[in-house]
Amino acid sequence: MNNKLYGHLIFELSKSGRKGYSLPEATMGGYSLPSTMRRSNDAELPECDEMTVVRHYTNHSANNFGVNNGFYPLGSCTMKYNPVINEETAAMTGFAGLHPLQPAETCQGALEVYYKLQQSLSAITGLSEFTLNPFAGAHGELTGLMVIRAYHQSRGDDKRVKVIVPDTAHGTNPASAAVCGLEVVEVKSNADGSVDVEHLKTLLDDSIAAMMMTNPNTLGMFERDIPTIAQLVHDCGGLMYYDGANLNPLLGACRPGDMGFDVMHINLHKTFSTPHGGGGPGSGPVGVRKGLEHLLPRPRVICEGDTYRIETDGEAIHVGEFLGNFAVIVRAYTYILSLGKENLRMVGPLATLNANYIKESLKDLYLLPINGLCKHEFVFDGLKDKSTGVTTMDVAKRLLDYGYHAPTIYFPLLFHESLMIEPTESESLDTIEGFIQVMRQIAKEAATDPELVKTAPHSTPIGRVDDVLAAKHPVLTYRQLSSES
Ligand SMILES: *Cc1c(COP(=O)(O)O)cnc(C)c1O
Repeated sequence: MNNKLYGHLIFELSKSGRKGYSLPEATMGGYSLPSTMRRSNDAELPECDEMTVVRHYTNHSANNFGVNNGFYPLGSCTMKYNPVINEETAAMTGFAGLHPLQPAETCQGALEVYYKLQQSLSAITGLSEFTLNPFAGAHGELTGLMVIRAYHQSRGDDKRVKVIVPDTAHGTNPASAAVCGLEVVEVKSNADGSVDVEHLKTLLDDSIAAMMMTNPNTLGMFERDIPTIAQLVHDCGGLMYYDGANLNPLLGACRPGDMGFDVMHINLHKTFSTPHGGGGPGSGPVGVRKGLEHLLPRPRVICEGDTYRIETDGEAIHVGEFLGNFAVIVRAYTYILSLGKENLRMVGPLATLNANYIKESLKDLYLLPINGLCKHEFVFDGLKDKSTGVTTMDVAKRLLDYGYHAPTIYFPLLFHESLMIEPTESESLDTIEGFIQVMRQIAKEAATDPELVKTAPHSTPIGRVDDVLAAKHPVLTYRQLSSES
């Protein structure tokens, strides 16, 4: 559908005088607002009947794509199935109706969930204690780096101002370091995609506060040298930070705490299966090794006998007033309990199997810059045949026509045509075979009818968007759209 028509049909529904509500006459108990607080003109709101409003939102919701609509292989995002039972528990009135300022004795059950999730995360990661307060992975990174800074400061060590970040790192890593007031130093990768230990050695001195690592890294490769790296960083007085966004393939196989990491975050919304996308909601618990617990932020939930208490005193760093995104916490805990220890152990191996199966089935047509066994995700550098001019962007857009969400594209920045695929453990062999077939079909189209791919998508409500124009002249309100149509 053409954008102009779309705008007209969907957005201009307002007709002067139409009403979809009836309210009792306002009486205000005889009180009237002072004129300075009253608006002089009516609010400019759309005027619609109720049926029109219902259809408007229902039709919009049908244009959404989520993991419940189809395959969503968005690398680095772990778009796994979000079991419906998670929603049922999160919606229980005792949880959903909580007030953040409710006294602890009136919400013991909720605090128990909170406390027990902290303990489960410790068991899963091998770290001593967790705070569930941060609202996202990036917020967790910031919290973790603040813990690290507080650790150095508590020892009177003020010269540690640098954080080492691999060139494959997610953009949030350097961003969090910068927000925390630390300087970012980049360490190079080897040809196999892992951290270059020889280069790392040249960066280490007593100005290093920490090294941030993701394992498996954003190329989906397991970092084999972590014991050596941890030793080197610890020897120079720095701490090891683990970006836990890629924890999924490690579940049941190994634990960051056993690898020498001191501080980490977990993206509950990724690994522990709560709906995310479009920016939220999220949760980024931060864990620390033994000896650093006192540096975690307050409030925190503690257990005394069989009573749970919210502790607010003794804070070393401050990241917020409350105990995090509770509905996400309930969903994650439900997920862990419903899988149980044995099934949780299967998550990593199955996610790894699915990713390798797709990679091996497509590497004759798509360029695989880093060969070998991957973990839960991998990166192609576009189509192998570059002569057609069909780019990664085109392949991603064409996938939409076939009913798939696009993979992550143009990240990591190491390659020109990055196409990052993460199938997760949730998908059946049939779904994966279907995706492989479509990826092969697109490669064929690129060779025989490149225009078809370059102008895709053809079957979505909005066609190919002009990214450059959108960046230069963003149309952010429907008013602008309709006045131009
Ligand atoms: C998703 C992700 C983050 C950031 O997490 P958010 O929850 O989106 O803030 C950090 N690092 C990696 C490797 C990620 O994939």
